Amino acid sequence: MSEEQTSDTIHNPRKMMTRIYVISLSIIALLAIAAHMLLNSVIEQQLQTGKIINVSGQQRMLSQRATLFTLDYLETGSIAAKNTAQQAIDKMVSNHDELLTDHYKALSSNMPSPLSSDMLNLYFNKDNNIDAQLTRFVSLISETLSSPPRDIDVFSSEGLEFKEMAKEPLLTALHNVVGLYEKESLDEVDNLRSAQQVVLIITIFTILIEAVFVFRPMVSKISAFARRLQWEATHDYLSGIFNRRAFFMIGEKLLSNNKRNKKPSSIIMIDIDKFKAVNDKYGHAVGDVAIQHVARITKGNIRSSDVLARFGGEEFVIFLPETDVHGAVTLAEKIRKKINETALSVKKENITISASFGVSASLLSDDSLELLIQKADDRLYVAKESGRNKVEV
Ligand code: GH3
Ligand code: MG
Ligand code: MG
Repeated sequence: MSEEQTSDTIHNPRKMMTRIYVISLSIIALLAIAAHMLLNSVIEQQLQTGKIINVSGQQRMLSQRATLFTLDYLETGSIAAKNTAQQAIDKMVSNHDELLTDHYKALSSNMPSPLSSDMLNLYFNKDNNIDAQLTRFVSLISETLSSPPRDIDVFSSEGLEFKEMAKEPLLTALHNVVGLYEKESLDEVDNLRSAQQVVLIITIFTILIEAVFVFRPMVSKISAFARRLQWEATHDYLSGIFNRRAFFMIGEKLLSNNKRNKKPSSIIMIDIDKFKAVNDKYGHAVGDVAIQHVARITKGNIRSSDVLARFGGEEFVIFLPETDVHGAVTLAEKIRKKINETALSVKKENITISASFGVSASLLSDDSLELLIQKADDRLYVAKESGRNKVEV
């Protein structure tokens, strides 16, 4: 059979299934990519959180350090203390700028600030106003550091504005900022985690939906296709009964089982008489119908355990397990009569058909299926030679 003939009779679902499979897997892959990206954002967010909290936490420490070393400078005139205090405020300014970079960037391009209203409140509202407080604090420290040391005692340093600021309210405000950064970052991570869970649930749900509505029908299509192929490989397309190949596969097994159980097996060979004349007179299509007709009658008169196959053009063979020669002859005779009595009506004509039968039975343990068929075929030849429409054994 050519490729085209095969696709005429059996539709190969390969292309459609590959497409469905690829689409389904692509959806799952996209969801997996989305989950991966969300996970990446969570990690990124956590890194960012750590960094921001670290930088804003530093501001608290730096305000105390700047105050302490400025007081030290005032008290002792130590240049090292002055430098350390200077470095502390420089760092405070650069940290402050860093924390507000995105805010100023957004403002300069007329975008809303990425900072929450609570955070903007802490930074710029006049009650808290870290921005103004920090500028004031830095300028007070800078001023103090640029003037000569005053030879003051730490105890007489009360009332210095930068020292008071470092105690309260700058320290509290800086503390509040760290707390708010922590809270907001954790909230953001929580949101991303929830989104990731949603994607995971959607992915699992999609896989389940695909398993039920895509993969299950796909598997049943494939198994239907395999069953169809199996049927085509073992059956005769015209008559629907087994083909020669299947007959040998099943017959060999049955024969060896019967032999093992010391049971007889029989073979009946059937050949339609003068079939060439039917073809010549009524046409090939009618000949085909006649083959189906004989197959149907034969099938209707055997047991379900018997194996009927189309052996060749207008020849049939039956394997009869657990049946001796007498049983086989009786059955052959019954089928012969039925075929001869059941006229085939085609085109308002009743065509009487007859067939000849050859029977063989296995008794010896060395009888092979081929030998049994050969014997039955020999008897069939005798039936033909001696007038047709008869059973020979
Ligand atoms: P005999 O009584 O000796 O068996 O005569 P016969 O004409 O039946 O024998 P022969 O073997 O000479 O002819 C068999 C014919 O069956 C020849 C072939 O064209 C025809 N045939 C074989 N297969 C098919 C088929 O599938 N369909 C049709 N319509 N005819 C077929
Ligand atoms: Mg023949
Ligand atoms: Mg014939």
